[in-house]
Parts: sequence; C-alpha cells; structure tokens
Amino acid sequence: MKRMNTIFLGPPGAGKGTQAQVIAKLFDLVHISTGDLLRKAVSEGTPLGQKAKATMESGHLVSDDLMISLIQEVLPEDKGFLLDGFPRTVEQAQAFDSMLAKEKQNLENVIYLELKDEVAAERLMERKRTDDKPETIRKRLDVYHAETKPVVDYYKKNGKLKTVDGSPEPTVVTKVIAREMGK
Ligand code: AMP
Repeated sequence: MKRMNTIFLGPPGAGKGTQAQVIAKLFDLVHISTGDLLRKAVSEGTPLGQKAKATMESGHLVSDDLMISLIQEVLPEDKGFLLDGFPRTVEQAQAFDSMLAKEKQNLENVIYLELKDEVAAERLMERKRTDDKPETIRKRLDVYHAETKPVVDYYKKNGKLKTVDGSPEPTVVTKVIAREMGK
C-alpha cells in the first residue's frame, strides 16, 4: 500500500492534535506530535527537555537544529507518518524536504487547517496547558504568523497544499480532511 505521508499545518488551536489522532488511525499512519515529544522531554528532564523548557513556556520556537535532529530520530522507516507541529519554519521545511529526498520518500498530503486568530485564541484560553496563559497565547499567534505562515506559502508554491476550514465541529473537519486525503 502507498504510504500516505502527511503533514498538518495551522495555527495553535486549529485542531491539529485532535484531528491527527483520528486521521492517523483512519489511514494507518504513525502520529508524530513534536509538541507532545517536547513536553515529554521536559517532564522527564532529558537534555532536550532542559534546553526546550523555557523557550516553550515563553511561546517561542525551539531551535531548528534541535527540531530537525529530533525529527530525524523519530521518523518511521517502514510506515507512513502524520506530522503534527513540524515543520514550523521554512528552514525546517527545507531540511525536511532534503531528508525525504535522501530516503526516497514522498510527501502525499499537506493539510492546512485554517482558523482566524480570534477563534484560535478563544480555544487556547479554554485549554489548561502551561503555555496557554493569555500573554503566551498572543506570543504564540505572533510567532505563528512570523515564522510558520511562510511554511504554508512554501507548500502552496509547490502545489501540495490542501486548505481545510478548522472552524466547524471536529467530526465535520475530520470528514473534510479524510476526503481531501482520498477517503
Ligand atoms: P504544540 O503542542 O505543537 O503547540 O507545541 C508546543 C510548543 O513546542 C511550541 O510553542 C514550541 O515552543 C515547541 N515546538 C513544537 N514543535 C516545534 C517545531 N517544529 N519547531 C519549534 N518549536 C516547536
């Protein structure tokens, strides 16, 4: 069976994590959330966690070098993957492209979950994560526009991007994503 290698892009609060869990099961993909991996590293106090902790709590991005080597470590060799939270900068996207080319793998789907800032902020306020404090939420949305929005344009240019409205209820969004991915 063809590997449906997929990435999810979109602002914090767009529903990437929620949708990734369902879609990964539906398409038999390994779900990789860089945010979850980092939070685990922080709670376990690993060297990566120690380096990432303060950056994450301030709403900034962890360095490209750390993120690229993390992805290199966790990318499955014999199964398709669904990445949620990576790439988040154009530099990460370029490094990721070279990584895939080297391993002769393709990216089948780039799903962009679109959501207005006001709605994203409201949703983040309802979560109870340590980086979901009001001042950090604003920062994360600013960082998203400055650093990650260009990644959306990067994939738009190479014709891979599929835009999905992230505002309806989760079950509706799942159906639209699955349809975009050919189910
Ligand atoms: P998330 O759960 O995806 O919202 O990620 C939580 C935090 O982890 C982000 O605010 C960043 O500080 C960090 N992070 C996750 N993925 C990345 C990435 N690809 N590049 C840089 N930082 C990341």
